[in-house]
Amino acid sequence: MIKVKKRKILLLPGDGIGPEVIAELKKIINWFNDKKSLDFEIDQELVGGCSYDKHGTPITDEVFYKALESEVIMLGAVGGPTWDKLEFSKKPERALLKLRKELKLFANLRPAICFKQLVDASTLKPEVVSGLDIMIVRELTGGIYFGEPRGIKPIENGERKGINTHTYTTSEITRVARIAFDLARKRSNKVTSCEKSNVMEAGQLWKEEVQELHEKEYKDVELSHMLADNCAMQLLRNPKQFDVIVTDNLFGDMLSDQASMLTGSLGLLPSASLGAKNKDGEMRAMYEPIHGSAPDIAGKGIANPIASILSFAMALRYSLDLDKEADILEKAVQDVLNDGLRTKDIMSEGMKETSTSAMGDAIISKLQ
Ligand code: NAD
Repeated sequence: MIKVKKRKILLLPGDGIGPEVIAELKKIINWFNDKKSLDFEIDQELVGGCSYDKHGTPITDEVFYKALESEVIMLGAVGGPTWDKLEFSKKPERALLKLRKELKLFANLRPAICFKQLVDASTLKPEVVSGLDIMIVRELTGGIYFGEPRGIKPIENGERKGINTHTYTTSEITRVARIAFDLARKRSNKVTSCEKSNVMEAGQLWKEEVQELHEKEYKDVELSHMLADNCAMQLLRNPKQFDVIVTDNLFGDMLSDQASMLTGSLGLLPSASLGAKNKDGEMRAMYEPIHGSAPDIAGKGIANPIASILSFAMALRYSLDLDKEADILEKAVQDVLNDGLRTKDIMSEGMKETSTSAMGDAIISKLQ
């Protein structure tokens, strides 16, 4: 069997259930190393609240530089009530924002897929969500979460004023739109671009730039523009009308959470954050489940590791050019669900409830 070059994967389990789901992922990566001779080099570090507890910062410089050198970062989740009262710069989430910003991870890909085996887990009617397969592409390093000026300041009348600034430039819009168009070409060839061009100048620019890029380079892809509030409504009314949705940081945050709930459980959905390619064509990328650290179930051995494992399937596909391996892994997850195995969050009558680690083992046994 041909050995591929050693590829660096940095595991950042983080807090709460993060270490529990990443432990299952590690078993899967080791399986690929052993059984498929894929030479992944795994490293593991602290990030988030656990890093603050040990080092007084949510991410140390050492870990940050390791992340810079890794082709793939697999994150668990960060945060929890223990660290809620920390000052802003020390909060666990700052580590994520730093990684996203400094690694220039400008495109966040969040699939919302409704597994046919779990169609009853959705709060919507089965016929509305069955077979759903949407990809939301959210701009991740610009817009109102990063724009300057920002802050809270006193004003003359004794009140305080909170300020955030929503800004986008042409290149920030076109690079993320390009990702959406390229993805659409590999799927159903349809992009819906969402903004608020009716009330925001930055939204008007967004619409114009996406349209111009479409006319110049992607005429073969079907493009439509939709106001973000209408998109929120359409996602509930008729979600299957969408293929790829591209939108800014703020609206993407809301719309992708909404889309994820169409599918029933947070424990199932992966995500990818992709950055710019360097001159050697290598792209920085971070993959993570969309769920948080779930402090309410941490340490109980009941967290669903599937979102984390499917995040690795995305890494195989988008960073490591291993589409076949990604297919194998996704199929193993489907097979386990077909067998009726369920973690508590997706448990239903007649199914077999299983623990986090038993779910990981079952997926590995299907890989065999
Ligand atoms: P959450 O996603 O952690 O949990 C929401 C609900 O879903 C909880 O009831 C939880 O038990 C359940 N859940 C989540 N993931 C699950 C899984 N894999 N298996 C089974 N059940 C699962 O969201 P939250 O409660 O709003 O946030 C908890 C903490 O996580 C907060 O500190 C928040 O800031 C942080 N957070 C971190 C990230 C991240 O690291 N990317 C994202 C979101 C929230």
